Amino acid sequence: MVENGKSLFQPVLTQALDHALVHLEGLSTGSVAATADLRTLRARLGKPLGDAGVPAGQVIAELTRDVEGGIVGSAGGRFFAWVIGGALPAALAADWLTAAWDQNAGLYAAGPAAAVAEEVAGAWLKDLFGLPPEASFAFVTGCQMAHVTCLAAARHRLLAERGWDVEQRGLSGAPPVRLLAGGERHGTVERAVRLLDLGKEHLVSLPADAQGRLQPEVLEQAIATAATAPTVVLLQAGELNTGAFDPFETLIPIARRYGAWVHVDGAFGLWAAASARHRHLTKGVALADSWATDGHKWLNVPYDSGYVIVADRAAHRASMSHRESYLIHDSDARDQIDWNPEWSRRARGFTTYAALRELGRNGIGDLVERCCRYAHALVMRIGALPGAEVLWEPTLNQGLVRFLDSRAGATEPDHDRRTDEVIAAILASGEAYFGGVTWRGRRAMRVSVCNWQTSDEEVDRVVSAIGLVLKKECPA
Ligand SMILES: *Cc1c(COP(=O)(O)O)cnc(C)c1O
Repeated sequence: MVENGKSLFQPVLTQALDHALVHLEGLSTGSVAATADLRTLRARLGKPLGDAGVPAGQVIAELTRDVEGGIVGSAGGRFFAWVIGGALPAALAADWLTAAWDQNAGLYAAGPAAAVAEEVAGAWLKDLFGLPPEASFAFVTGCQMAHVTCLAAARHRLLAERGWDVEQRGLSGAPPVRLLAGGERHGTVERAVRLLDLGKEHLVSLPADAQGRLQPEVLEQAIATAATAPTVVLLQAGELNTGAFDPFETLIPIARRYGAWVHVDGAFGLWAAASARHRHLTKGVALADSWATDGHKWLNVPYDSGYVIVADRAAHRASMSHRESYLIHDSDARDQIDWNPEWSRRARGFTTYAALRELGRNGIGDLVERCCRYAHALVMRIGALPGAEVLWEPTLNQGLVRFLDSRAGATEPDHDRRTDEVIAAILASGEAYFGGVTWRGRRAMRVSVCNWQTSDEEVDRVVSAIGLVLKKECPA
C-alpha cells in the first residue's frame, strides 16, 4: 500500500523491528520480572478511545513506551517459572511473516502454502515423537485445546461403539464416559472435561507413586470396577513438579484390554522422545490413542502453538469436520477445518515448520538435553546453598528446592513462609524468575528449564544472585 509514493507499512514495521531488537538484546541483562505495577500500566495504557484515529507510527511508539517495565523476560534465559519457552530466531521471524501473510488457515483454498507447511510439519512431529505416521493431527492454540480436541475424538469413538452418536444426540441420556487419571494431572485436563460436558464427577483421580506415576495394579483395579463402561485413561509424559512419566509400556496394554481410550498429556515431556538420552522415558507411548503437546514450551515457538495427534483418524475427523456449501474443499489437500476446533484461524504451522528446520533432529535433541542439564545444575547448586535444600532432583527439566527458616525451633509453616519470601526476593532482584508451588503439603520453588537461551553463564549468574539474596535476607 503506497500513498504519495511512500509505503504505509515501511516506517511502522521498521519501528517495530528496532524496538524488538532492543527488547531481545536486553533480555540477557535486564530485570526478568516486571518492574511496572498494575496501577502504572492501567494509567498509561488506559487512554480514552478517541473518535479520531491515531497515525500508525504514533500508535506503536506509544504502545512500546506504555508497556515499558510491564513485559516479563520470559523469552530470555533466566526465566524458570511454570513451563514457558522462548522463541527461536527462525520461529519468531516466521511468526512475523505469518502475520504479514495473514492467511486464513481453515482451508487449503484460503491459504495453500499454509496448509502444506502444516501438513509437512505435522508429519515431522509424528516422526520426532516416534508416533504412528498414519495418525491424524491438528495445530491448536496450546495443550489446553489439544486436550479438548483429543477428548472429543475419544468421546466420539467410545460412544459410537455403544451405539450412541454423540455429535447428533449430545450427551443427555448417553452412557457416562469415565475418565481415570493419575492424581497429579495438569488442570487443563479437568477443564477439557468440563468443556466437553463429560462431567467432573466422572473424572477419577487414582493414587500415584512417590514420583507421581500411575502404577499398573492401581489402574487395573480401578478399570475393572466397571469393566465395560466407556473409559478414557489419562496418562502423563512429564509431570509438572517431578518431570515423571507414567509407565506407558505396562499401563497402555491394560487399558487396551478393557477397550479404553488412552490419552497422553505430553505438554513438554513428549519432547524427551527427540533426545537419544531421554527417549527411554517415553517407551511405549506410541501405543496410546491420542497425544497432546506444545510447540510454545520446549520447541521454543512463540505462543499460540499446541499439537493434537490422534491414532484413530476417523474418530478425530468425525468429531471436528464441518462442511458448508460456501466452503471450497480440495479433494487432495488437507483442510485444517476437518481436524481443528476453530474455523478461521492463524496459519500457525509456519512457526513450527521454521523451528524444526532451524534446529534439525540433532538440534532438538541437544536443546532438550541442555535444558535437562541446566535444570539439574540449578536445583543441585541452589539446593547446596546455606539455608536451602533439594526437594526433587530433576530427572528431566523440572525440579524443586525449598528454603529453610534458620531460627531454632522453626516449624514447617515457617519454612513454607521462608520459601515464599525467598522466591519473592529473587523476583524483586530482577535476576531470575521462579514460581512457588505446594508440593505434598510443603511450599517449594519450582525450577523449570525449557528456553534455548539458558546458558552456563546464566546458570552461574542466577546461582550467585540467589546466594546473595539468601545472605541479605538472613545474615549469618
Ligand atoms: C503447560 C501444560 C499444559 C497446558 O498447556 P497450555 O499450552 O498452557 O494449554 C498441560 N499439561 C502440562 C503437563 C503442562 O505442563
